[in-house]
Amino acid sequence: MDESPKESPRDFIRSIVAADLASGRHRAIVTRFPPEPNGYLHVGHAKSICLNFGIALETGGQCNLRFDDTNPEKESDEYVRSIQEDMRWLGFDWRDGLHFASDYFEALWQAARELVEKGLAYVDEQTAEEIRATRGTLTEPGCPSPWRDRPAAESLVRLDEMRAGALPDGACVLRARIDMASPNLNLRDPALLRIRRATHHRTGDRWCVYPMYDFAHPISDALENITHSTCTLEVEDHRPLYDWVVANVTLPSRPRQIEFARLELTHTVLSKRKLLALVQEGIVGGWDDPRMPTLAGLRRRGVPPDALRDFCERVGVAKANSVVDVALLEHCVRERLNPEVPRYMGVLRPLELVIENYPEDGEEWLDARNNPEDPAAGTRQVPFSRRLWIERDDFRQEATRKFWRLAPGREVRLRWAYFVTCTGVELDPTTGEPVRVLCTYDPATRGGDAPGGRTVKATLHWVSARHAAAVDVRLYDRLFLDERPGEDWRDRLNPHSLEVLAARPAEPALAMVAPGARVQLERLGYFCADARDSRPGALVLNQIVGLKGAAAKG
Ligand code: ATP
Ligand code: MG
Repeated sequence: MDESPKESPRDFIRSIVAADLASGRHRAIVTRFPPEPNGYLHVGHAKSICLNFGIALETGGQCNLRFDDTNPEKESDEYVRSIQEDMRWLGFDWRDGLHFASDYFEALWQAARELVEKGLAYVDEQTAEEIRATRGTLTEPGCPSPWRDRPAAESLVRLDEMRAGALPDGACVLRARIDMASPNLNLRDPALLRIRRATHHRTGDRWCVYPMYDFAHPISDALENITHSTCTLEVEDHRPLYDWVVANVTLPSRPRQIEFARLELTHTVLSKRKLLALVQEGIVGGWDDPRMPTLAGLRRRGVPPDALRDFCERVGVAKANSVVDVALLEHCVRERLNPEVPRYMGVLRPLELVIENYPEDGEEWLDARNNPEDPAAGTRQVPFSRRLWIERDDFRQEATRKFWRLAPGREVRLRWAYFVTCTGVELDPTTGEPVRVLCTYDPATRGGDAPGGRTVKATLHWVSARHAAAVDVRLYDRLFLDERPGEDWRDRLNPHSLEVLAARPAEPALAMVAPGARVQLERLGYFCADARDSRPGALVLNQIVGLKGAAAKG
């Protein structure tokens, strides 16, 4: 988006940034995106990435990628790799700003010692249970730990023992010494460091003390000279602690935390815990299953990255939590694909159509426009013959007032080909279902236009049976039945979220598209050639999104 300086800022965070530049408080803006490498990125992360990188791009500043890797048990290199890959796909570049909170473990350790020396932190020997029990409630103050006023020198000795591995997990914790009566529970002597024997994906077994988020985050921000540290609303109540850390530790800069509403999307979940469960329980095929709201899933499904960026821009940034309709994302995808992608014809649920007055062995190649929205897209040739496949839904034995497609006696247009009139139907003797529809064609309507301006109300897509290629098609629907699946999300899964249609007839040119290519199947929707499962001569199409309303009927 064009951001001329005169335009008023798009959201309250950009307003703050603009004001800080105007007042000279900051000469350059530095933001960061701080994922924890404990899962793949999802659409919610995309919102945060677009915000942080967007601000840096618009102000000529820098956005860092910092891995918030302070919980070794749940983190891994696989996630570190996937996050970088997904961010590049989305179109963002952190330049030389790649950082890891684990690179700051030593600095965090020094900060901990500094706080103890200043009398602002102490080693508490109470059990986790005791600490929880003495924290108080919203209406009652907490109860100070018996270790709260121990001499700093004593805490320092214990702190060194914690780091040296002399104490078992949970034996003690380092706590900030703030205010046990604070109305904000986060200020009631929160834990800063804890003992945890766990192998870290980068630092291995070098450390057995790990920092808490509230301690690591402000210090990491300050060490990177972050000016504006955005995060979601859940940590709003933690901001006084963020500010306390920044004010009391000797640091090169004073970053500011700003909270915004997290993105929620209908019919899916954006919690890493739930997404991980979907993967681990085999409910989906992996983090990149096209039904997943992960960036890897959306990419595999065929969603263009600029459509996702457009979506994030439209969602905007605000303070109020809201749930965004997934239809908005689908709209952005369609809007991006419609002018661009080539059209093809394929039939998902085939019914045979025989043109009785067409020569038995006749064949012709008809001109078809590659994209009616774009004359420059040119044409291709589509083979036509006596036996065609049409969509089962496009035929009914009895035409009603609302059904304008093929029915006995009814004339329709075959896209790019001819007008045909239905002359009869052969039924399956046991089920009564149509197995073959008979018709005649009007040779004077070649190309799909009748002389004298005769019109029809419907245009059908079709595939010549003799020339058809076979493609596998995967249709996707919402992963969850409910708009907002709650904690019982496992019971709310949509059993029809994936439908696999094997060996469907398609015009031969479709079988030649490259893996990863996006196409429109006329009247059906947008599809992407699955880059992993497609083989030469055996194309697999993932449905990206259907067509909208009327366009889908024709
Ligand atoms: P958790 O901390 O439970 O693992 P998280 O969703 O906070 O989950 P992080 O990896 O910490 O995951 O998130 C990285 C950044 O992305 C954070 O700054 C967070 O605020 C932001 N973020 C995460 N989820 C959303 C969301 N749904 N909408 C907007 N921003 C989000
Ligand atoms: Mg987080």
